[in-house]
Amino acid sequence: MKNHTVYISVGSNIGNKLDNCQKNINILAASASVSLKLQSRFYKTEPVDYTDQDWFVNAAIKIETSLEPFELLKKLKLIEHNAGRTEKTVRFGPRVIDLDIILFDDLIINTPELTIPHPRMHKRCFVLIPLCDIGSDIIHPVLKKNIKYLLDTINDKDQRVIVFK
Ligand code: ADP
Ligand code: MG
Repeated sequence: MKNHTVYISVGSNIGNKLDNCQKNINILAASASVSLKLQSRFYKTEPVDYTDQDWFVNAAIKIETSLEPFELLKKLKLIEHNAGRTEKTVRFGPRVIDLDIILFDDLIINTPELTIPHPRMHKRCFVLIPLCDIGSDIIHPVLKKNIKYLLDTINDKDQRVIVFK
């Protein structure tokens, strides 16, 4: 069985956000095809893109999985759906749980349904700061820079990201 190394960004800004994040990480980790390797701290983060909404709780995890990228995406969408996430009304708007594939080995995928590395990861403190906890030296396969470097050189220095737990 081939094992892939995958980094996932986890976020919630509805209800008990910390609980929503941890419970859904646990659900993913309980899958036979997934093994949880590392988990970052939790952060309170200010919303970006669509700012008229509550703050988020965000974290990042490292998993190993035998699933291929689209199989993993399907699993993540099912977990989101089961958590009560309804079809989005506002892009980047409020959500019970958001599970995004950030990096999948050193794969590059460019389809509308799945883009890897995540197309906005290098612009977002709420992705890069948690990711730095668990993999500051991972190289972004397109930009060819490590995560620490991407965070240090990010343009958006204004987004507030505070250690929560
Ligand atoms: P976002 O996370 O960008 O705020 P959504 O969670 O609503 O938005 O996802 C919208 C769509 O993005 C999903 O239906 C999914 O097919 C697609 N998508 C593209 N690339 C990825 C990725 N790397 N991880 C997760 N979803 C992705
Ligand atoms: Mg998403």
